[in-house]
Amino acid sequence: VERNHGEVEFHQAVREVLESIGPVLAKHPEYAEHKVIERLCEPERQIVFRVPWEDDRGEVHINRGFRIEFNSALGPYKGGLRFHPSVYQGIVKFLGFEQVFKNALSGLPIGGGKGGADFDPKGRSDREIMRFCQSYMTELHRHIGEYTDVPAGDAGVGGREIGYLFGQYKRISNRYESGVLTGKELAYGGARVRTEATGYGCAFFVQEMLAARGDSFEGKRVVVSGSGNVAIYTMEKVHQLGGIVVACSDSDGYVHDEQGIDVELVKQLKEVERGRIGDYAQRLRGRFLRGRRVWEVPCEVAMPSATQNEINGADAVTLVRNGCIAVGEGANMPCTPEAVRAFQEAGIAFGPGKAANAGGVATSALEMQQNASRDSWSFEFSEHRLEEIMRDVHARCHDTAAEYGMPGNYVAGANIAGFTRVADAMLGLGLI
Ligand code: NDP
Repeated sequence: VERNHGEVEFHQAVREVLESIGPVLAKHPEYAEHKVIERLCEPERQIVFRVPWEDDRGEVHINRGFRIEFNSALGPYKGGLRFHPSVYQGIVKFLGFEQVFKNALSGLPIGGGKGGADFDPKGRSDREIMRFCQSYMTELHRHIGEYTDVPAGDAGVGGREIGYLFGQYKRISNRYESGVLTGKELAYGGARVRTEATGYGCAFFVQEMLAARGDSFEGKRVVVSGSGNVAIYTMEKVHQLGGIVVACSDSDGYVHDEQGIDVELVKQLKEVERGRIGDYAQRLRGRFLRGRRVWEVPCEVAMPSATQNEINGADAVTLVRNGCIAVGEGANMPCTPEAVRAFQEAGIAFGPGKAANAGGVATSALEMQQNASRDSWSFEFSEHRLEEIMRDVHARCHDTAAEYGMPGNYVAGANIAGFTRVADAMLGLGLI
C-alpha cells in the first residue's frame, strides 16, 4: 500500500486477487519462493507523459497521458486506452492488473497493459478529438508495436478515436502496421464483431452461468447500466437470447421501459448523435429518472456495464431483495467488495469482469490474428469463435472453482485459473 500510495482502486483490485489465491500458494510453494506475487504486482514499465493540444478557440490544454505495460509473460502487452477526467495512475494500474489475469484466462497469447488520459471527451468537437488523439500518439508511438504493446479502446475511446490514433501512428512511423492497435474500423484493418464483442461475450457468459443452474435468459427481466459500447451490445445480445432489458443509464440517470429497451434507438442516440440517454423517453416511450440509481429497478439479471464501483453493498441488497439471481460484470470492477460479498452470500450466480467481459480482448486477439495473416473473417465465423471462447472461459472458472473446493465461486475460479497460467509462464522465463 505504501509503495503505491493513494492508488485506492489498484489496492482494491490486488486485494481481491490475493484473497482468492491462498489455496494455490499452499499447493505450489515454488510461486512464493520465486516471489511471483511481488513481481506480478509491479508493472514491467510505467509511462507517464504530457499531452498538449489546442481547442477550436485556439486555447491550449495540457493533459496527462499514461501507458502501464504490466506483464508480458504470455505475449505483447494488450489492453485498452481510457479517456475520462477521472483517469490517474491508480485507475490505469487497477485496469492493467485486472487485464493480466483476464488475458491469461482467455487462453490467448497476450500479456496485460492499459493506458489512457485524464482528458474529457464530452462536448468536444470531432476536430478537437482528432487533435488530442494525434498529440497523444505522438508520444505513445515510440512505446508500442505489433510485437511489443497493442492498445485498444475502452471508455471514451471507440472506433473514431482508434482511427485517429492509428492514422497518426502510421504517419509518424511510415509503417502500415495494422496489428499495432485493435478496435479499428473495417476499412483499415478492423475485425468483424470487435465492436459487439464485449457486450455479446458478457451475455454469452451469463447464459452459461444460467445454463449451469438449469436456467436461461428466456423471459428474464434484465437491467444494464451505462449506454456505451459494452451496454449497447449487451442489450442487443440479451434480447436475441430471449431476455428483456427493462432499463439502462448514463451518468445523468436511467431510462425505464418495461416493454424492453429499443436498442436501435439507443444506438442512434449514443453512437450517431452522441447525445444523452435522457432523450430516449421523449423520442419513444418509458420514463427517464434523473439522478436515480438504475439498481432500484426490479430484475432477475443485472449487468453493470458503465464503470468501476457502480454497485455498492446497499445496491446489491436491493437487487437480491428484488429477486435478482445472476450478475455479469460487463464493466471492470463495477461491484464493490461489499456488493460481491452480498451476492455470494445470497448464493446468486456472480460472474466477475475478468471472466464475463473477456470477450472484448479475446476478439482483439482475433483481430491481431487476422492482421498478421492479412485475412478478414466473416461475422458468423467471428461470432462463433467468440461464443466458443466465452464457453471455455466459463468452463475454466467453473471447473477451477470446483477443483479447489469452492463450487460456483466464479471469482475464485477466475483468479486462480488466470494466476496459474501467468505464474507458470513467469517461472519458465526465469527471473525477469
Ligand atoms: P463507453 O465510454 O462507451 O460507455 C460508458 C458508459 O457508462 C456511458 O454511457 C457513460 O455515461 C456511462 N457511465 C460512466 N460513468 C457512469 C456513472 N458513474 N453512472 C452511470 N453511468 C456511467 O465505455 P465502454 O462501454 O467501452 O466501457 C464501459 C466499461 O466496460 C468500463 O469499465 C470498461 O473498462 C469496461 N470494458 C470495456 C471493454 C470494451 O471493449 N469497450 C472491454 C472490457 C471492459 P456518460 O456518457 O454519462 O459518461
